[in-house]
Amino acid sequence: MNLIDLTLTEALAKLRAREITAVELTTAYLDRIEKFGAELNCYITVTRERALADAAESDRRYADGTNRGLEGIPIAMKDNFATIGIRSTGGSHILENFIPGYESTVSQKLADAGCVLLGKTNMSEFGMSSSAKTSYFGPSLNPYNRGMRLSPGGSSSGSATAVAAGLCCAATGTDTGNSIRFPASLCGLVGMKPSYGVCSRFGCFPFASSLDHPGVFGRNVDDCALMLAAAAGFEPQESTSATVADKIADSLKSPLAELPLRGLKIGIIRELESLDIDPNIKSEFNRHIENLKSNGAEIIKVSVPHVLDLETLYMVISRAEASSNLARLDGMRYGLRVEGDGLDDTYKKTRAAGFGPYVKFRLVTGAVMLTEKFYKDCFLQATKIRRILDNELLAAFEKCDLIVNPTCPCTADAAPLNNESSPENSLAADEFSAQNFYMADTLTIAANMSGLPAASVPMALCNGLPAGLHIMGRRFDDTRVLQCAKHIEKFAAFDNRPTTVMGE
Ligand code: GLN
Repeated sequence: MNLIDLTLTEALAKLRAREITAVELTTAYLDRIEKFGAELNCYITVTRERALADAAESDRRYADGTNRGLEGIPIAMKDNFATIGIRSTGGSHILENFIPGYESTVSQKLADAGCVLLGKTNMSEFGMSSSAKTSYFGPSLNPYNRGMRLSPGGSSSGSATAVAAGLCCAATGTDTGNSIRFPASLCGLVGMKPSYGVCSRFGCFPFASSLDHPGVFGRNVDDCALMLAAAAGFEPQESTSATVADKIADSLKSPLAELPLRGLKIGIIRELESLDIDPNIKSEFNRHIENLKSNGAEIIKVSVPHVLDLETLYMVISRAEASSNLARLDGMRYGLRVEGDGLDDTYKKTRAAGFGPYVKFRLVTGAVMLTEKFYKDCFLQATKIRRILDNELLAAFEKCDLIVNPTCPCTADAAPLNNESSPENSLAADEFSAQNFYMADTLTIAANMSGLPAASVPMALCNGLPAGLHIMGRRFDDTRVLQCAKHIEKFAAFDNRPTTVMGE
């Protein structure tokens, strides 16, 4: 039996039946990290000793019957979740040696559910960029077609690579502007960003607080549901945590009920139809729509005119919030400190040395949006348009239950890592396929702006590479998004066994 090809759901069943042990499973993953970790560059820190100790504890619990929900499942955490005593970098030099004294709610909940932590995954610096090239630790590699050296997408690049290549069973990510769903699409995984407030942001390094959503990656929908059931929940220490989160988590603990397609209204946003999407992706998407239709779903065109402004809205709001959030990284309390000539000079030298060029570019432009001169016309205006978009989505969701579209206009071949015009961690690191990235934002970021649940599910191989279908639901209708994802998954019958993906 190849332990690596087991999905989380299958591994859990075997652990519970005592057919395998948590130590065996964890060791299989650690061996694989040893074998492929350097090439794929998906881990920043591997917590080998801790993982083996956690796994031994899980086996003890199975023996005495005190096993918890995800007992013994080896997972990875994106490196922007604070983990007590374990280096947490955010993919940045400025936090390269930062060891938090506190734990994020999501990592704590997963640990409390019995998950085994294998390590912390690589990411775009502070979540900025979809390319994976802005990490201080170098880019992660997409496990598909390794010879071509393709990007896994970002910013949760290491988590996506690690799950797809079988270097962990499932992983967490964060999604401020598609950073879970975009890499999920490029790496053939299910990626789920729950409704805002369902997974707590407590202990998660902020990028743009009103858009940041912790979430999960899995090889299939059930795996994601189980991960969310453990990771979600109300957190009193966080002001925007949703009280309904516990209820949603509970509902995901039992297997997802079959969602009848008859009577289900599925919306397609008219304004997105003019986008220049890869024709192979378009045709796979249409094939799925036809299938949903022939199984009884009603397909409805809805209008959400302001989706076409998402790219601009995101640019203004995310950068403005980031410039304010990341002001705390000044060398005074934690992280890198470069002594200068007095306080101001120390700030300057620390931040100049600590941030990569792409992050600096975002922070500077974000600060400009908040200046007296531009605040009204940029930031304030953007928040107003965000509200209009909210209302358009509310109106659309009166006509339909879910909204679908391709997650991404392209496959990973549009994002090669070795592109000389956009070197790693340069100002141009996100520009090498800028048109595609902007379109991907247009297809997905409504869910961040309005805090709606959204998932990407593999729909097919296009051009020999994975492509995802995006499902978005009403606020707190997370369960239905996953239930619908099950239909897509069944029809796609996508084979993402890690040994197949890695061509073993
Ligand atoms: N494309 C987005 C950006 O570059 C991804 C952000 C995210 O979700 N962390 O900001």
